[in-house]
Amino acid sequence: MEGVKGLESDLEAMRQYFRSGKTKDVAWRQSQLKGLLSFIKEKEKDIFKALKEDLGKHHVEAYRDEVGILTKSIKFALHGLKEWMSSKKAKLPIVALLSSAELVPEPLGFVLIISSWNFPFGLSLEPLIGAIAAGNTMVLKPSELAPASASLLANVLPTYLDSSAVKVIQGGPAVGERLLQQKWDKIFFTGSARVGRIIMSAAVKHLTPVALELGGKCPAVVDSVSSSWDTKVTVNRILVSKFGACAGQACIAIDYILVEKRFASTLVELMKVMVKKMFGENPRETNTVARIVNEQHFLRLKNLLSDSAVQNSIVYGGSMDEKNLFVEPTILVDPPLDAAMMTEEIFGPLLPIITVSYIPVISFYLYTCILQELHPAIIKKTRLDKVEDSIAFINSKPKPLAIYAFTNNEKFKRRMLSETSSGSLVFNDAVIQYAADALPFGGIGESGLGKYHGKFSFDTFSHYKAVTRRSFLTDFWFRFPPWNDYKLLL
Ligand code: NAD
Repeated sequence: MEGVKGLESDLEAMRQYFRSGKTKDVAWRQSQLKGLLSFIKEKEKDIFKALKEDLGKHHVEAYRDEVGILTKSIKFALHGLKEWMSSKKAKLPIVALLSSAELVPEPLGFVLIISSWNFPFGLSLEPLIGAIAAGNTMVLKPSELAPASASLLANVLPTYLDSSAVKVIQGGPAVGERLLQQKWDKIFFTGSARVGRIIMSAAVKHLTPVALELGGKCPAVVDSVSSSWDTKVTVNRILVSKFGACAGQACIAIDYILVEKRFASTLVELMKVMVKKMFGENPRETNTVARIVNEQHFLRLKNLLSDSAVQNSIVYGGSMDEKNLFVEPTILVDPPLDAAMMTEEIFGPLLPIITVSYIPVISFYLYTCILQELHPAIIKKTRLDKVEDSIAFINSKPKPLAIYAFTNNEKFKRRMLSETSSGSLVFNDAVIQYAADALPFGGIGESGLGKYHGKFSFDTFSHYKAVTRRSFLTDFWFRFPPWNDYKLLL
């Protein structure tokens, strides 16, 4: 188990270091954030190299999604830090005359961050920014599935930071489980719902608070948008967010599209043209699409495509190169709704489009429920009537991390907003919400618990202590016994 020799004593030393109070200092927090910024700046080329090695990411994509976003986030934290750390006045009821109250943020203590492989720097360092800004000591365990990135984080990052307060431990599930046996003041986890459940069970022992950044199937609804310009913008944004961000291996990637049947062929034909324009005839050779992280995930995607009905639904792409772990951007129209493709999170460059066609009932949801009761196989053929019915379709699935809707229809937007539930809701774009410091990033229900980014990251790793200050001068006599009914009248 690499990096965990003498684990218990190392962790105890870090707990002691937190108790020394050093990490609470504003100057300490600033110096660590600046250290993080220097790491990103000075090791930019090494970061690109690691991301190329682990995931075949083009360096421009790596800059956009990891280096660039992290640089922005660190600067945002440095800029807001003093204000975030300041106590906030609170109002007290009149009975507490001549008193004052405030909310004082304090660090939680010693925290654990476990991260995923698809954005190995972003998903490790974005929570680290919050943990540092809030004044904690911390252990980061990056994913073993992006080993070059994990090694850079473990071997180089600590030289830019206070190594008594920040430790990076490499390893897989066994190391993760060993870390989970320790007592933490918070566990911040990014990964699958399966492991999320393991994290939550382990946290129960010490009543440790958790943040779980999970995944799921994020739908995009495409309305028959009004102009050819809107359609082109829609297609561009869908393609770049699906195939151009770690080849669809992203928790907020569009998992599937719902589109009105009458508009589907226009959309698909434009997609075929634009996908070639954006990623070229041979994306593997031009390195415009990242590769699949490992053989296991490659075979998982191969398996999703293996069903003959799914094969028949491919309208673009579909080729796979096992030696290079490369999957071509692939578009499918109406794969069966009960195929694994439509029941499991895809997490790869496969984009199913589900068409919305005639069905003679108002509520798709009721209709599918009845059909499912009568004959589950019929569900395969079930289609939606109009784009509004996509709401019922989305609501029949677990709450997603993100919902996207491409539309100019204001009434439909209002309905999406009030009738669906998700971590985030984006109109007319996808994935862009990840870059916003002012928006909380996190899921709801099965897509996660807790939120971060910007000040939300600081809050995630802070406790807001309620502080009340009273004067000895005044008091209301009726709050003290002995009780009598006269006191009630007051
Ligand atoms: P994963 O759950 O397999 O692994 C995540 C991390 O947990 C890794 O560091 C891994 O080593 C560790 N781990 C695995 N088993 C463990 C155990 N038994 N005990 C302790 N730690 C353990 O997930 P993954 O393959 O890295 O990521 C894919 C999933 O993560 C997808 O579902 C995706 O949607 C989700 N995800 C979510 C976000 C988000 O921000 N919400 C971001 C990226 C990925």
